[in-house]
Amino acid sequence: MAKEIRTRYAPSPTGHLHIGGARTALFNYLFAKHHGGSFIVRIEDTDQTRNKENADEEQMKNLKWLGVEWEEGTDVGGDYAPYRQTERLDIYRKYIDQLLAEGKAYYCYATKEELDAEREEQLARGETPRILEKHRHVTDEQRAQYEAEGRVPSIHFLVHDNREYVVDDMIRGQVTFNSSEMGDFVICRPDGIPTYNFAVVIDDYLMKISHVIRGEEHLSNTPRQLMIYEAFGWEAPRFAHLALILNTEGKKMSKRDESIIQFIEQYRELGFLPEAIVNFLVLLGWSPGGEEEIFLKDDLIKLFSMDRVNKSPAVFDSTKMNWMNNYYLKRQPLDTITDMCIPHLQKAGFIEEVLSSEKRAWVRSIVALYQEQMSYCAQIVPLAALFFLDEVVYDEEARAVLKEEQLSAVLTSFAKHLSANGEYNVDIIKAVLKEVQKETGFKGKALFMPVRVAATGQAHGRDLAETLFLLGRDKVLARTNHVLAHGE
Ligand code: GLU
Repeated sequence: MAKEIRTRYAPSPTGHLHIGGARTALFNYLFAKHHGGSFIVRIEDTDQTRNKENADEEQMKNLKWLGVEWEEGTDVGGDYAPYRQTERLDIYRKYIDQLLAEGKAYYCYATKEELDAEREEQLARGETPRILEKHRHVTDEQRAQYEAEGRVPSIHFLVHDNREYVVDDMIRGQVTFNSSEMGDFVICRPDGIPTYNFAVVIDDYLMKISHVIRGEEHLSNTPRQLMIYEAFGWEAPRFAHLALILNTEGKKMSKRDESIIQFIEQYRELGFLPEAIVNFLVLLGWSPGGEEEIFLKDDLIKLFSMDRVNKSPAVFDSTKMNWMNNYYLKRQPLDTITDMCIPHLQKAGFIEEVLSSEKRAWVRSIVALYQEQMSYCAQIVPLAALFFLDEVVYDEEARAVLKEEQLSAVLTSFAKHLSANGEYNVDIIKAVLKEVQKETGFKGKALFMPVRVAATGQAHGRDLAETLFLLGRDKVLARTNHVLAHGE
């Protein structure tokens, strides 16, 4: 029987869910689902100095929001619980003791500073840095002395010299490392907590992970992990290392780069749709071939395969992300988009916390005007400000229109006809504009621009009659009269 496909996303809870992490999680998820396997979320929190409170919950909340769901994890449990590394310390201890007993690991009393200094000296002599023999074999006497000095040892894995370790990577093929390039490495810190490279192997093995799909930054860790599999006589999982994500300048994306929105939470807050983000993320390194770019999660589960994952870096292009989200926003029911826009309008102070049904209907119509145009819902605030603010802000082009000769004649006639009519709706507004045309002899731009600019402050915008209708007659008349009296 074929081995069950089991993949995992193993975040360290050091911050928000990043685009790179989300992509890793998504690829693991799609690969597992494509093969009818299981996807697991494991929290790797052994580096306690880097942990941030609630970062694991926050990451999981955002993964769920993206629709990347897991069968096993800290919240849902599973056959291989616990799924948080700091709750597995007893398990690691047992395996560390085994390596110590077999002479495959040893207590090292040297401090990090001492080891660093030795390393510097070796480098200065032009040697490949390696752990000195004296640290590997400590006599009982030395040990007693170190302990009397109050030194607490860390545990090192003993790396054999000059052995080849081949990572048979599903994306980049065979990558060979020589063990001589790697010194003995720490598997357990003085505080008794194992390091990532050790804990990850124990967990991937015990949790029966069949495929480890993770970022390229981990490739250099993999030979160390292979050594640990070898030391226990365990079969290693398959590995796949995803290429870096670069910014549009071709540089490695840095978490500190504020020109790119990098965290899923931020996209969520700005009013992006999870399906758009998933679609965008999957194309950061995968393509099914062909021109098609729009894929929903279910299509992706059917289509996803590792052999179409790219070796070369992916480029993060926020313009494309915006385009993608716009594509999905346009196709959403208006009520969904209205619900997404309302909190932004509330935050801007444009509308009340509790809306009457008439007010909601009005807001809904305004959202309808801009649905085609928005890349994300927070944009409703600048786009629709003219409906909510009392003061009109004239843009540059609008100012030029205010100086046009026919302006006064057009606006005078428009104000007159608008006040004369009892009813106010889109048809009546269109009829009024026709009347103005007849009376003044101006038509097209010469007619519409002054009206638009007076009512909105902008030279361009959505459908004029609809805009004037949603502004309401009082506001349109007041703004028109203001321009007639004061220019702007
Ligand atoms: N905890 C590691 C990280 O957050 C994951 C490494 C792995 O997937 O093996 O980068």
